[in-house]
Amino acid sequence: MGRKFFVGGNWKCNGTGEEVKKIVSMLNEGEVPSDDVVEVVVSPPFVFLPVVKSLLRSDFHVAAQNCWVRKGGAFTGEVSAEMLVNLGIPWVILGHSERRALLNESNEFVGDKVAYALSQGLKVIACVGETLEQRESGSTMAVVAAQTKAIAEQVSNWANVVLAYEPVWAIGTGKVATPAQAQEVHCELRKWLQGNAGAEVAATTRIIYGGSVNGANCKELAAKPDVDGFLVGGASLKPEFIDIIKSAT
Ligand code: PEP
Repeated sequence: MGRKFFVGGNWKCNGTGEEVKKIVSMLNEGEVPSDDVVEVVVSPPFVFLPVVKSLLRSDFHVAAQNCWVRKGGAFTGEVSAEMLVNLGIPWVILGHSERRALLNESNEFVGDKVAYALSQGLKVIACVGETLEQRESGSTMAVVAAQTKAIAEQVSNWANVVLAYEPVWAIGTGKVATPAQAQEVHCELRKWLQGNAGAEVAATTRIIYGGSVNGANCKELAAKPDVDGFLVGGASLKPEFIDIIKSAT
């Protein structure tokens, strides 16, 4: 079975109400391949999720950038998976490196979040990736395998999970991984899935790349056999996001 190309746009902590509406108009006007060919999911900040969902074309979907690790309640400032489901938000990004680094989210905590989000019916874009120091010391695969293991232990249905390989040194730096570097890790991750979750999961799970993807470098990356799409930060706020979606074909 072929893996449908997946393009996520992570808007991070950006935008005013007016700016968000402009981005949505840009997306709504974009001429892109049909949703049989590419799955597009954009992730605005929590406060803009309802307006983006209501204005966005129906072939594009929305994701939250995070959710609380368990059932909602006395957790000031958090947003629960139940709330996202209640609003009709189908996807959530979990384990983004900014949260791992800045908010000290451990592999186990990310795994617990994945478990709870999936149990509530959300689909998860689960992020893994090594720092520059880890890459230079030769531990890239050990790091991403440990991160993936903590996630995989909580997944029973991989159809609801997209794995995003996002090297930390490439995020927001303009220093994109080469297509060969991305392919190497994606191929290893697929082998890891084969060994730990089975051949069917390995063959069907989308492994997407994130880290300074833009309109100019996406085609070459997309041509690699184990790159099944992208998670895009900065460029997802700009018209070039449409070019990135088009790299599906
Ligand atoms: C991201 O935040 O997931 C990301 C990949 O950011 P950027 O594309 O800006 O590097």
